[in-house]
Amino acid sequence: MSAELLNGSRLAQRVRSRIRRKLKKLTFTPGLAVVQVGDDPASTLYIKHKQRDCEKVHFHSEVHRLPPDITQETLIEHIETLNARPDIHGMLVQMPLPVHIDKEAVIDTVMPHKDADGLNPVNLGNLLINREGVTPCTPTGIIRLIELTGEKIEGTHAVCIGRSPLVGKPVGLMLLNRNATVTYCHSRTADLKAEARKADILVVAIGRPEFITADMVKPGAIVIDVGINHVNGRAIGDVQFEAVREVAAFITPVPGGVGPMTRAMLLENTLKLAIGG
Ligand code: NAP
Repeated sequence: MSAELLNGSRLAQRVRSRIRRKLKKLTFTPGLAVVQVGDDPASTLYIKHKQRDCEKVHFHSEVHRLPPDITQETLIEHIETLNARPDIHGMLVQMPLPVHIDKEAVIDTVMPHKDADGLNPVNLGNLLINREGVTPCTPTGIIRLIELTGEKIEGTHAVCIGRSPLVGKPVGLMLLNRNATVTYCHSRTADLKAEARKADILVVAIGRPEFITADMVKPGAIVIDVGINHVNGRAIGDVQFEAVREVAAFITPVPGGVGPMTRAMLLENTLKLAIGG
């Protein structure tokens, strides 16, 4: 039997509807600022999507386009100005940044209470002690998709393939916080197939097109495909979708799975920061 699809686009629509309902009770408009350094076309497109999402929920949004040769000091000053603005409740700095900019220093400058991406070390550190406040968007979206299955997380064996600070590492912590037993796999894992096959919940975030094949998946597993790989003008996931859906119980499509939920969680984080909780 074919796996049930976890429709991230539909779930994201529901998240936005809930945000619009909550907004009716507010006496101010939540504001999100996006900082872009340079004019990388992919970044420009992602930012356009974020702005459109903000419009859908009636948030104020603004994009700060800064020159590619901006100095580290000027960029940091710019972020500090946004930190101080009361009408901007959330902000993010679009990655990647030019090589002459210290990415970590930039992330550190975004104040934890303005950190719409949930990537400031303070917010990431809170995950370690199971104090989830503003959490990173993609991992939070993944948890929502897993919850959509109606299956329990507690007591399951979750395997995260990929350990980036953006996706793999925080999603593993969030699953651990929900009492899953978590295994991390990465490029040095000795027998990745054996580890993956133990997973009741398999989260794949490596950026390798169709890396996960059906024989690497436990029958009945929940498979979350985070990967976005552009191949011949198409977005392809890290999972061999057609074959794996014959083995898994639930699977996210690419596109239309994790991506839309990542964007929806950015809106949720902005609202959370705006209302201070
Ligand atoms: P990343 O920073 O490049 O990290 C990739 C991770 O995968 C690393 O931990 C790496 O291991 C591991 N890896 C790479 N090749 C491997 C292999 N052959 N076997 C086992 N592990 C391997 O990437 P990322 O930012 O986490 O993103 C991963 C993918 O998710 C990308 O396709 C990205 O576009 C996508 N993504 C999607 C969304 C969304 O909203 N849908 C959001 C973010 C990212 P090492 O640590 O050992 O190097």
